[in-house]
Amino acid sequence: MFAPAVAFVDLETTGTSARDDRITEVGIVRVDNDTQVSEWATLVNPGCSIPAGVQALTGITNAMVAEAPTFEQIARDVAARVGGCVFVAHNARFDYGFLKHEFGRLGRSFTAKVLCTVKLSRRLYPDSGPHHLDAVIERHALAASDRHRALGDARILWQFVQTLYRDRSADDVDSAVARVLKTPSLPPQLPPDVLDSIPESPGVYRFYGLNALPLYVGKSVDLRARIAAHFSADYRSANDLRLSAEITRIEFEETAGELGALLRESRLVKTLLPAYNQRLRKRAEMVVLAVGEEPAVPDYVRSEAIDPRALEGLYGPFASRRQAREALRDLASQAGLCWTALGLERRVGPCFARQLRRCAGACVGAETPTAHHARLLEALAPYALRPWPHPGTIGIRETSLTGERIDLHLFRDWCWLGTAREEGELYALLETPPRCSFDLDIYRLLVKRLPRLAVIALPSSPLH
Ligand SMILES: [Zn+2]
Repeated sequence: MFAPAVAFVDLETTGTSARDDRITEVGIVRVDNDTQVSEWATLVNPGCSIPAGVQALTGITNAMVAEAPTFEQIARDVAARVGGCVFVAHNARFDYGFLKHEFGRLGRSFTAKVLCTVKLSRRLYPDSGPHHLDAVIERHALAASDRHRALGDARILWQFVQTLYRDRSADDVDSAVARVLKTPSLPPQLPPDVLDSIPESPGVYRFYGLNALPLYVGKSVDLRARIAAHFSADYRSANDLRLSAEITRIEFEETAGELGALLRESRLVKTLLPAYNQRLRKRAEMVVLAVGEEPAVPDYVRSEAIDPRALEGLYGPFASRRQAREALRDLASQAGLCWTALGLERRVGPCFARQLRRCAGACVGAETPTAHHARLLEALAPYALRPWPHPGTIGIRETSLTGERIDLHLFRDWCWLGTAREEGELYALLETPPRCSFDLDIYRLLVKRLPRLAVIALPSSPLH
């Protein structure tokens, strides 16, 4: 066979998330030197309840695992049985990811050379239809008993590999194995060479499922490495695991540098609202505090209500209304401000902070509203939104590391007008700039970087 020691592994689990779900059964068929076969299986007490649907599928019930050892108690056995072996499983990322997580919970690392039999099947029988285990069993007339139990399924994989060596020449099988072992562990429904077409340059990428709208939008300074990282065998997030199950194609756009990628990502996430971009989607909830000259409770204002030419009296940005309130509470305790005057609570008489002796007393008449307001403005000063520091439109040039690509990002009044790569695009953007709508996310990106960037002043009026 393709290695002196091979472990055919199958797990049963409480669900599909390596992070949140647990192993309920381990089955291992270990084959040394092609001939010595040893089988091992054990139920595992997952320490949590098995959902009814999963119990029905696997036949493993809560009662069956109640007396079984925990993973901690079998970890040493598992490690010994797969140690030094090529780890073979059907959709191996799943089983390997679960084991990695279980070992990780014990503070132990687990690594193995992994061979996925879905990929092996696809490579050897590319035109034979699906490659899930039932299809493989049917195609090769494998004897399947104890289907959906760990040892039963592990035995099927061992049978499958033996069948390959009968059906095909040993060279064919060995070279297919070598190819699969070399390929990064991409989801099986993606073309195995999909990463080859993706550049190692900055840009944004989109993952699509079966629908026209993307599942996920991301950015990186190295597209290929970042995309591969989503599919690394040891899933870091349940999000990546679900993405891997749904993804059917990848699209990407190159940019000259990181700023271009960030701008593009921000815009794509806002306009396309991909299902798996929860963190970035939240940026749409960014707010600023509006505090006027006269004493009044601060107001919360979102991007779309902001006039970029009138930023006076605005403070932030904050990730959400809740974060803005938290910032106000922090300021209140540092500066002795009043919770009632800040609108953090509504009550008559001493505010919550006053009861803790942290409020200077605006709520009980110990401080005038005007004096309190002056102190609020002073405390907020570091958060003041900055006015646009240029007379008009500016360009920020980003050049790729190879020097081959130059992007000129155009901004005016903190708004991103667009990115030009050639003169024609630049003139078009200058002559008919798109409607400039203020976006706190773009403001945040730019305000941090602007002091470090070389800025080119551009004529704002039409060119002639
Ligand atoms: Zn107070």
